[in-house]
Amino acid sequence: MARRRRGRKKKKTLIGRLGLALAVLVFGMCSLLTAGEYYHWDLPSWEAVEGWLGVVDSPSPGSEIPFSSPSAGQSASESGTRLQGAEDTEIYFIDVGQADATLIRQGDSFLLIDAGNLGDGDQLVAYLKNAGVTRLDCVLMTHPHADHIGGMPEVLEAFPVERFLLPDFSLMDELPTSAVFQRTLEALGKQKENGCEVLTAARGQEIPIGDGMLRVLLAGVETDNTNNLSVCAKFTAGKFSCLFTGDGEEAVEQELLAVEPNLGADVFQAGHHGSSTSNSERLLKAVHPAAVVISCGLDNSYGHPNREALDHFAAVGATVFRTDLQGSIIIRPSADGSFTVATEKNAEG
Ligand SMILES: [Zn+2]
Repeated sequence: MARRRRGRKKKKTLIGRLGLALAVLVFGMCSLLTAGEYYHWDLPSWEAVEGWLGVVDSPSPGSEIPFSSPSAGQSASESGTRLQGAEDTEIYFIDVGQADATLIRQGDSFLLIDAGNLGDGDQLVAYLKNAGVTRLDCVLMTHPHADHIGGMPEVLEAFPVERFLLPDFSLMDELPTSAVFQRTLEALGKQKENGCEVLTAARGQEIPIGDGMLRVLLAGVETDNTNNLSVCAKFTAGKFSCLFTGDGEEAVEQELLAVEPNLGADVFQAGHHGSSTSNSERLLKAVHPAAVVISCGLDNSYGHPNREALDHFAAVGATVFRTDLQGSIIIRPSADGSFTVATEKNAEG
């Protein structure tokens, strides 16, 4: 007995010493990195170390705001329809600065709309992995500007993609020539070899995302302005819906109003990062969203969001959320159309 007790004591002491040594090592490393940052020594930054460890901006919320829909009081049995699809849905408006990247999860299915700016690829891939993405059911490229496809090659290299929706390039005389567009097409070619279905967006297309649905309402307009190639699409799950118009400007909004009688949506992603070239009063009245999410960069050189657009959001009583002030924004809908909005940071919108 005595020998066994002694053995246990020895084991405990060894574990204790190892624990102490580890604590001293971690404390030492932390102190060194912090001091290094303070004195500008040539050491890896905290951000770099976090990157090596796979630490990325967490999708966990900083604050949560509930919204009820006009139909929220009506139960499924009262309405006589079987509601499904909205529960277990999340829409992540990822903070990618002056750019767009939106991830929609419905059950185990994922849809990505645009892929951030040049240089965002690796961080975007890490964010998607952190959100549980191992494959993408669908990727929508609204239009081929760098602030929408900047990280697309890395995304296409990181995940198998089942369907890829391209803008209708026949609406423009010339194809884009940027290096990132070429890299995107190369990566898309490899996806195609692996069975990815590459489609040109067209009005009326429906792509199921789990129990939800992505509907293409307009695939841009004939134009010499790349913004106006923007694919406009609505994601619906149960009674909840969210409208995306990319960077579509006045011509796109007018055509959308002309062809689509059902523009109403609970959430609207502000057109063109909240620019006054988009977000017309007529469009906002037709969409009548409870919340508008603006994806833009802090103190961006374009002055987005513009005052005029903010006035139009306010005129329809929409609550505005901004990635430049609040970080990534996560919408969680319920089957009755109500939803909550969680923000990464607690800044005022
Ligand atoms: Zn843009």
